[in-house]
Amino acid sequence: MAENSSYDKITADGDTILVIGPDEARLCVQSCLLQAASKVFKAMFGPHYKEGQRSGLNGSKKEIPLPEDDVGAMTIICAVIHYRNDILPGELSSSEVLQISVVADKYDCKVALKHATHHWLDHRNVVSLKEQMELMTAAYLLDQAQAFSEITYAMMMEHAGSYLPFAQDQIDFGVPWELFYLLEAKRGSIHQQLGDILSVKYQYEDCPCGFKSKSAYGYLGILSAGGFLPSLYLDRLDGETAINRIKRAEQMGPPSEVEDCTGCDNYRWHRPAYSRESMLKNLQELKDGKGLCLHCISGGSRVYSEKPCSIEH
Ligand SMILES: [Zn+2]
Ligand SMILES: [Zn+2]
Repeated sequence: MAENSSYDKITADGDTILVIGPDEARLCVQSCLLQAASKVFKAMFGPHYKEGQRSGLNGSKKEIPLPEDDVGAMTIICAVIHYRNDILPGELSSSEVLQISVVADKYDCKVALKHATHHWLDHRNVVSLKEQMELMTAAYLLDQAQAFSEITYAMMMEHAGSYLPFAQDQIDFGVPWELFYLLEAKRGSIHQQLGDILSVKYQYEDCPCGFKSKSAYGYLGILSAGGFLPSLYLDRLDGETAINRIKRAEQMGPPSEVEDCTGCDNYRWHRPAYSRESMLKNLQELKDGKGLCLHCISGGSRVYSEKPCSIEH
């Protein structure tokens, strides 16, 4: 029988041939390694699985037909399981990572792929919302909580538009629809936190000399110049990402100096209304925030879920 070029890509001396996809691509593998990595393969190669007993077409090698699976994804998964790091591609597209996660979920071999998938789920390699959504769904299917949190945070920080155009595709892969509601709600909360960081802090009574009022007025001047005052801000809210607003806030210059009030008896207690240092610190904390908790989403309510949370929140 003619064999395609991928046949002995993984191993030439395996005991099993996977016949994958509608085009019946053939891949020679070691059944013991697949059984160790996947409970599904373990059952499939067991004595009671009739497809596992089809043999004799290629010497003593068993043939396992897997007509519904993606040949590219299965080849990469088999390469990892067979320690063939030499044939793994350096980079994978987000849709390839998603295909791998679908097959890994189906065959329950996420643990065996954990370190390889950790590298593929790095969201810094992608920028479009569609690609980030694909990586998010892959992280969900692979149960990679850290990557899931980081990817969902990037989606909230880097996009201002609706998540809905790509939502149905992810729901079809098994992601719960509530996730898109949570993404929207948490993105609103990030903008709210940014508003709080930039707000004028006026919690103490002003000094009789009016230092606090003058200082606050100076700060309002740079907020106005930066486009952060309410009237200007409402115009810009549509379509501006959280990360862009943060960058603009970081670039705001210092407010005009308040006239030195050393003549005031209470000048030692004068505190400016704006501290660039603490604002930058708070903005950095906001940038370093966490995204959605995978275990809360996949395990239902955090009150009733047995699973501990995957991130602190
Ligand atoms: Zn004073
Ligand atoms: Zn949680």
